[in-house]
Amino acid sequence: MHAIDPATLVVVITLLAVLLAAIMLTMRTSFPRTIGGIDQWSAATVLVIVAAALFTLRKTPPFFHVTLANGFMLLAMIYMASGMLRMFRLRLPPRRPVLAAAAGITLAMAWYTYVQPSFQARLFIMALLGVCAFGYMSWLPLRHGRRGIGSLVTAFAFGLTALSCLVRLSTLMIRVDDPGGLFDPGTLQVIYLATFNVTLLIATVGFILMANEQLRDTLEFSATHDALTGVLNRGAFFERANTEFERSRRDARPLAIALMDLDHFKQINDKHGHQAGDRVLMDFCTTVRAALRPGDFLGRYGGEEFIVLLPDATHAEAAAAMQRLLDTVRPGLDLPLYTFSIGYAALEPGTAGIDDLLIAADKALYQAKENGRGRAEAGGAPGA
Ligand code: GH3
Ligand code: MG
Ligand code: MG
Repeated sequence: MHAIDPATLVVVITLLAVLLAAIMLTMRTSFPRTIGGIDQWSAATVLVIVAAALFTLRKTPPFFHVTLANGFMLLAMIYMASGMLRMFRLRLPPRRPVLAAAAGITLAMAWYTYVQPSFQARLFIMALLGVCAFGYMSWLPLRHGRRGIGSLVTAFAFGLTALSCLVRLSTLMIRVDDPGGLFDPGTLQVIYLATFNVTLLIATVGFILMANEQLRDTLEFSATHDALTGVLNRGAFFERANTEFERSRRDARPLAIALMDLDHFKQINDKHGHQAGDRVLMDFCTTVRAALRPGDFLGRYGGEEFIVLLPDATHAEAAAAMQRLLDTVRPGLDLPLYTFSIGYAALEPGTAGIDDLLIAADKALYQAKENGRGRAEAGGAPGA
């Protein structure tokens, strides 16, 4: 172990950190802003590099290699935590108490550097802080992160960092080692430094993985959902509908489909403006979704027309569900009044595919419009 020179180790790890910081900085420009925390994490990687560089400047006054170095490390921890909180869309803690705590730690570090110099005391403060901060950052992705390899890697890495701080704290308490200075080539020192820096790098890799997983989720969502209302787009809807149709036929289970069209929507746009029209569409989808059963799904068929698939619903159950929609969907506050018409159809022995159901529902919708709008009509499958 003594063959490993800690300073060399720090240089190697710093180079790796520079590489990862470069990756993070390119991610900053190429990732959509909806994926939060990348800016903070990029800043943290740069701060860790600056801190590591300062730690190596042993010949400089302690202000540089102790006060500033630890200060930058502290700032890096704050940025890492805030990067993760932003990524998981969690509320950030109030700024003042965090800054006050950071100032308190910096003052304590300064005290044990200039007034009552003690390497042990400084190590104790930073190791204790490390246990708490990295322990918290290990728990965060497990609790709030998306289930995936990125969360696991980040949690594992920070768990190890916290553990290495805990080991350091314990050895300090029971005085196994007697640290003379940060770069004493003692075995424990080498292990400690290596673990600490390497785990921070692994955590950054974990963060990059988490950002990529979130990007994939975002892209997948926008490829399958309508941008305005958030319901399934036409393509995704029919992909699922066809799967459900096949399942129903195979298992001889009922299934129903409903087309819904907002009434006189053109007038709403003309009278209240296109933006009010957009808000009506969003409101309509939100309330319809809330009124549907969990297994039902809603899609945008086009314009102000929407489509619902009701798996396992018989004709009578579909009729009841449609009546429930007509009874419960009411315009939200500050929105123009609106009504909608429904045409629905249930699977029958002669139904060959989703298209048959669609034709029947479309005819029924036309009938609902003819019969005065704001109502539901049932359609029989073609030929039935
Ligand atoms: P009906 O009761 O017969 O369905 O009459 P309608 O006015 O609803 O039907 P029409 O097909 O004449 O008009 C539909 C209108 O919906 C026209 C179009 O501009 C509007 N529309 C379609 N998509 C959107 C959208 O995304 N946002 C807004 N604001 N309007 C939309
Ligand atoms: Mg309409
Ligand atoms: Mg229409």
